[in-house]
Amino acid sequence: ASQIKTIIAKRPTLNTVSYVDIPFECDAEELHRAIQQGQLINYYQPQVDVRTGEVLGVEALARWLHPEHGLIAPERFVPLAEECGLIGELTVIVLAQALELMQSWHEDDVRLTMAVNVSMESLTSLAFPDWLQEVADDFGVPLPGLVLEVTESRLVKDRLAALDILTRLRIKGVVLSIDDFGTGHSSLAQLRDTPFNELKIDRGFVHDAHADPSLRAIFEASVNMARQLGIRTVAEGVETVEDWTFLRTTACDVAQGYYIAEPMPLTALVAWMEKWQSNRLSLMESSQP
Ligand code: C2E
Ligand code: MG
Ligand code: MG
Ligand code: MG
Repeated sequence: ASQIKTIIAKRPTLNTVSYVDIPFECDAEELHRAIQQGQLINYYQPQVDVRTGEVLGVEALARWLHPEHGLIAPERFVPLAEECGLIGELTVIVLAQALELMQSWHEDDVRLTMAVNVSMESLTSLAFPDWLQEVADDFGVPLPGLVLEVTESRLVKDRLAALDILTRLRIKGVVLSIDDFGTGHSSLAQLRDTPFNELKIDRGFVHDAHADPSLRAIFEASVNMARQLGIRTVAEGVETVEDWTFLRTTACDVAQGYYIAEPMPLTALVAWMEKWQSNRLSLMESSQP
């Protein structure tokens, strides 16, 4: 834990929001160095209660602040990390920053959830749940405030081990969420045989669902299914006021998307929360379905 703290202490403070779009070849060694040098920083995107508009928590999203190239989106380095065995290290560094922020909330008596992304193929060590518990204890953070958003891929070698790890995490009070539900490898089978307690519906079924009967049907069926399973639903990709107003006609619990806020560096989060809180009631009033 102290080694992780040394790494995250190296992070620069950051206000920039522009991304590199130049073609950029990154290799495993460079990514490994970047992780060790604290170039991986978390952005945070708020999640709000569909019924009240209250902020419930945030999702941590990794960014690579490259000294020459600028800000690099995770789609450009997470797959690489998965391929070359660096995903465990990446998860550790994202988690450590998330726990550090949770620690400051805990000290200020702020009750928000923190969601962190983990790919199922990075769940290979049976020691991970106890390690996580130790680090959380070290930060003085209760694990039930932590949500792990799990994505599944073809790369999962030992599915039974991953399920064992998820079960151990669940027992410790960690909330387990199926990310990108409805796409790729997130499937109904996961709901049947895994201990998930949150369903995060992919933005492909959220944005513009109000205008498309088939998207709408899939979205509403997913929400109803989750209800019957007794698990909460989060809609990602709430991009427009129409998306938001539609959501408020459904039984979906939580909303996340550009309409509410884009992912932002920690330095911007507190100001955003204050602004959102002061506009919340009039926003809820004006967007009534
Ligand atoms: P995700 O977990 O599904 O995260 C949501 C992505 O959708 C984020 O992209 C976010 O910026 C974007 N998004 C949010 N609201 C909207 C919206 O209203 N419209 C649209 N079009 N997009 C929206 P981001 O940050 O680029 O992350 C992309 C993916 O990279 C994530 O998808 C996640 O799968 C992966 N990722 C990010 N950080 C990590 C990490 O620390 N570990 C792992 N394993 N994967 C990560
Ligand atoms: Mg996610
Ligand atoms: Mg997602
Ligand atoms: Mg995604």
